[in-house]
Amino acid sequence: MIFPDPAFVQRLRRNLLRWYDCEQRRLPWRGERDPYRIWLSEVMLQQTRVAVVIERYQRFLRRFPDIKTLARAKTSAVLSEWSGLGYYRRARRMHQAAGLIVRQGKGIFPRSAAELRELPGIGRYTAAAVASIAFGESAAVVDGNVERVLERLFAGQLAGAESYWRVAGMLLSPSRPGDFNQAMMELGATVCLPLNPICSNCPVRSSCPLRGQFNSAGTRARQPEIRKKLRKSYVLAVRGKTVLLVRRGPKTSLMPGMWELPEISRISIRSQNVIRVRHSITNTDYEVRIQLVHGSELAQAHAGSWKSLAQLDRIPLTGLTRKILNKAGLLQY
Ligand code: SF4
Repeated sequence: MIFPDPAFVQRLRRNLLRWYDCEQRRLPWRGERDPYRIWLSEVMLQQTRVAVVIERYQRFLRRFPDIKTLARAKTSAVLSEWSGLGYYRRARRMHQAAGLIVRQGKGIFPRSAAELRELPGIGRYTAAAVASIAFGESAAVVDGNVERVLERLFAGQLAGAESYWRVAGMLLSPSRPGDFNQAMMELGATVCLPLNPICSNCPVRSSCPLRGQFNSAGTRARQPEIRKKLRKSYVLAVRGKTVLLVRRGPKTSLMPGMWELPEISRISIRSQNVIRVRHSITNTDYEVRIQLVHGSELAQAHAGSWKSLAQLDRIPLTGLTRKILNKAGLLQY
């Protein structure tokens, strides 16, 4: 087990926090102390790029500005606001947890990482992030960025997930735990990058044995990602000011209960009016062909509902459906 030298720890904390105070990216959740807002940013950032989260975070807060509003909302409204961010289970669990905080906890946000972990969808990382940033608890975080920084700072001496958590806890600044956690994540996201760390700009290079030597020092080689390619065909049927949508089954593993366009395999149609989009979900790239038709051209009865175009932004649409409707000019975001 590693016990970092106290002088090493002090120097690292000082250099990292000084750098963070000057160089942190200006993000809407920076400096935030409201646990609900911090929690939302952490949940959104788990699987989504920062650039996408910035806009969606602010939109979500306009619609659900506090935990009571979120707890009172219908699941379909929450999923609708989450549409396009993917990994919808995050939104469902956040909604569920908000309900528990408001109903069982009388709206009082749990203050410790241990209490936060009792809630649905809040794991060790999120609990520590919220407790340290909102309430100043000395709870260290380890995400992919922090893990990479630690791996380099300790030059391969850490083995097993628990050792990363333990060392992160030893390095954590007791006076500024929330800032220290954010600084470690920021360092991994902007300087200590996976393939080409910018060691010349690194605030902790004097504490790092690698300093740009990472390629020859045993950092794990990145495995090339294996991506699948699939084709899909949908029909976009418009009748007056409505569009035909079908609902995914409640038990489907992906995006249960969300609305999408009917697949061509379920409807027989031949239209010359075609648009194409590309879409990626996790490790699959889809090439999607969409046939546009007027409702009256549909030759058969079919399952689905004609939904008003004016209400589309209130319906939980899949990200692909939102992208298609946007491309067809039927939706504005
Ligand atoms: Fe990462 Fe380079 Fe800084 Fe070491 S010196 S922590 S490898 S950026």
